[in-house]
Amino acid sequence: MLQGQCAIVTGSTSGIGLGIARSLGAAGVHLMLNGFGDTAQIESLRAGLASEFGVKVGYSGADMSKPDQIRQMVKAAQDELGSVGILVNNAGIQHTAPVEEFPMEKWEQILAINLSAAFYSVKAALPNMRRRRWGRIVNIASAHGLVASATKSAYVAAKHGLLGLTKVVALETARSPITCNAICPGWVLTPMVQKQIDDAAARDGISVNEAKARLLAEKQPSLDFASPEQIGAVAVFLCSSAADQVRGTSISVDGGWTAQ
Ligand code: NAD
Repeated sequence: MLQGQCAIVTGSTSGIGLGIARSLGAAGVHLMLNGFGDTAQIESLRAGLASEFGVKVGYSGADMSKPDQIRQMVKAAQDELGSVGILVNNAGIQHTAPVEEFPMEKWEQILAINLSAAFYSVKAALPNMRRRRWGRIVNIASAHGLVASATKSAYVAAKHGLLGLTKVVALETARSPITCNAICPGWVLTPMVQKQIDDAAARDGISVNEAKARLLAEKQPSLDFASPEQIGAVAVFLCSSAADQVRGTSISVDGGWTAQ
């Protein structure tokens, strides 16, 4: 059903973004990867996905905190892959500290990458979706788009904001075959979460496994991580025709976190 569509997945050199890129690739979607990392590793990832799924795969190193680079990434995707119908805003970073100690530059960076980047990429990609009369925008928010945790002021503010942006874009596209929705993952074991586990193990003088178990027990009733593949499958569903009337909402994949 999605065969031959073209997608941009921001922050897809790692973690959830890579899981989403793989799921879209498996559905026959051409891909524009984005994110940071070692040049040779990214090239082998790009070539590997292209040969595994038989789709075109490009790469843009655009920094999601830079509006000009976001616009260039969208243009490069159009030029290299064809008409972009799917945009997944996934790139994100984290920093934890009490609000009085939260570094100003971290606040600015998190708001730029986790929130403003989605605004700039939607702004750049939407005109083409309107021209081709089909589009899917999937924003990767978080359980932290729905509820808060201490020491995550910038992240929680950005993710709540991203759900607001999702609703506005859904309303502005409601009478067209373009939809905009969000996915709210709970804990997914990616490099971003591994860092939080390693930091907690070092801070509390416990093993990494113990820190992992405590992290899950604190928030996620299933006591298990969601996987990038599961988030990818939900993204593919949101891109499917079954989701034509799913608009301006979010799907939680959080092991029961926000049911509490
Ligand atoms: P990750 O650290 O594994 O991957 C983040 C990706 O974003 C990488 O590809 C990285 O290179 C890229 N990136 C970071 N800064 C960038 C920038 N300035 N420009 C372009 N790319 C940039 O993290 P993840 O856990 O896979 O997180 C992906 C998304 O999912 C984030 O938005 C995150 O907030 C969200 N999320 C993650 C979890 C979780 O438990 N892992 C839970 C809820 C939401």
